[in-house]
Amino acid sequence: MKIAVLTGASGQLGQSFLDTLSKNDYCIYAIDLNIECIVESQNIKPIKLDITDENRVHEFYNSLDKIDLLINNAGIGVFTPFEQRTAIEFMQVMNVNLLGTFLMSQAAIKLMKNQNNGKIINIGSIYGQVSSDERIYGDSGRNNSEVYSATKAGVIHMTKYMATHFGKYNIQTNCISPGGIINNQSEDFVNNYEYKNPMGRMGRPEDIQSALEYLISEGTTYTNGQNITVDGGFVAW
Ligand code: NAD
Repeated sequence: MKIAVLTGASGQLGQSFLDTLSKNDYCIYAIDLNIECIVESQNIKPIKLDITDENRVHEFYNSLDKIDLLINNAGIGVFTPFEQRTAIEFMQVMNVNLLGTFLMSQAAIKLMKNQNNGKIINIGSIYGQVSSDERIYGDSGRNNSEVYSATKAGVIHMTKYMATHFGKYNIQTNCISPGGIINNQSEDFVNNYEYKNPMGRMGRPEDIQSALEYLISEGTTYTNGQNITVDGGFVAW
């Protein structure tokens, strides 16, 4: 059976990725800080793990014999205004989005090199490519931050590093960068976002699942170092 490791498995996109991986016959190690909402089954193994904890990450990988797929999906943002940002808040976002992605990938690549096979999919964001237009946020209090954008740009670039350095071991590393996904946001925000989006709607988890389907399919063995933006054309203006 193919083995997948998925981080941020309890979140909105994580849950939808779990479905996609299950349908594609993976045995999935479903990692999150909180795993109460993940239903354990024959092919889904919930693992409570903080991806920023180097020792715990190594402990987890020591229990694996092989890994076919790693999806670095766990990610966080921060919503206080730029002028009030504390160093602690800044480093929390850096740690989860960049250090966590690095630690999970470093350990996976050691196994994948030995196997001469593997796929890594990082989850970036449109805000790793363009800055956010603060006018669409109104008083939602959910404005995007500089550090989120910087880390997502970093994730897109780390994808290229891993693709170019480990492609020779038959490891393909790619990134999927979603646009905003509908999830109980305020009506004002949704209207503004939809107005700004060329397709006139926010994304849905299934939009991102189809990009994942492409990258994990058996025939996809030569796509490497790419950032697939799934945003209805938001960054194309
Ligand atoms: P979410 O908040 O619903 O889920 C993220 C999950 O990551 C949570 O379950 C959280 O507990 C987990 N997590 C956080 N820190 C962790 C840690 N240290 N160790 C292990 N797990 C940890 O987020 P989502 O909307 O599902 O987003 C998933 C990914 O997609 C993120 O990387 C996010 O930046 C990216 N993204 C989301 C959107 C969107 O609109 N939803 C848009 C662009 C990019």
